[in-house]
Amino acid sequence: MPDTPRSLPDFTNWPSFPFEGDLRVKPIEAPVLPEPPRAGEDPNECVACAASDDAYIYVNERWRVRAMDRPTGLPMVLILESRSHLDLGDLPNMLAAELGVMTVRLERAIRSLDGVAQVHVNRSGDGSAHLHLWFLARPAGRLQLRGTFLSLWDDILPPIGAEQWHENLALIAAWLAEFGGTPLAQPPRIEWKAPSRFPTEASPEPSSAAAESGSGERSGSEADSTAAPAGVHGPGGVAAVPAQATAPRVETVDSTRPQQATSSSPA
Ligand SMILES: [Zn+2]
Repeated sequence: MPDTPRSLPDFTNWPSFPFEGDLRVKPIEAPVLPEPPRAGEDPNECVACAASDDAYIYVNERWRVRAMDRPTGLPMVLILESRSHLDLGDLPNMLAAELGVMTVRLERAIRSLDGVAQVHVNRSGDGSAHLHLWFLARPAGRLQLRGTFLSLWDDILPPIGAEQWHENLALIAAWLAEFGGTPLAQPPRIEWKAPSRFPTEASPEPSSAAAESGSGERSGSEADSTAAPAGVHGPGGVAAVPAQATAPRVETVDSTRPQQATSSSPA
């Protein structure tokens, strides 16, 4: 049985470490060899292979993008999957190259959301055998969340509002679909396409909108959201997608989510 170190590692003192108080290092378990099979090692039992396209927010011929089943603490958490049952090291060159393109595209789409400062991209390979990359958005201004422990903070932060979450998913799906493929996440409201109705309906709510903007969650990526698509596609085209989606979003979201402004305010 290996010795368990008694002293805590330095990272427990990092500002980003989510816990405080008395901590102990767990006993280090003995290696298990050979390792047990991962979930979905057999393609016939693979959850990803069995999932239909409507379980995803965006699909194209070779890639699918999946969201969590409920709003997350972080502004966005997404999973990019290959359509084929492959793992990272199995990808043929064309899919490997496309993985790079899709990774960059999805990072830009998530970073285009208001209030997103950075997007972490993770792949461990330890869980499901079917290739999947995690994309986790760090909220703008939340310096405490930088680095190693972002995925832990996702479970600690209060979930974002369901309506904002759905709208963010729709925005990302629409962004990706500018390059082809099918956006499956839909905006949550009919009013999405009729912004001219909002001034009357939403007029009692501007204080809520201001509170949320002032929280620092929404104000950080204005430059990104306009600069990113221009850099990729040239002027015109895609820039209209985030702009159109953003305009109604402020009022639809805030008119129904006064409590979220509180929960997302900095401590
Ligand atoms: Zn599979």
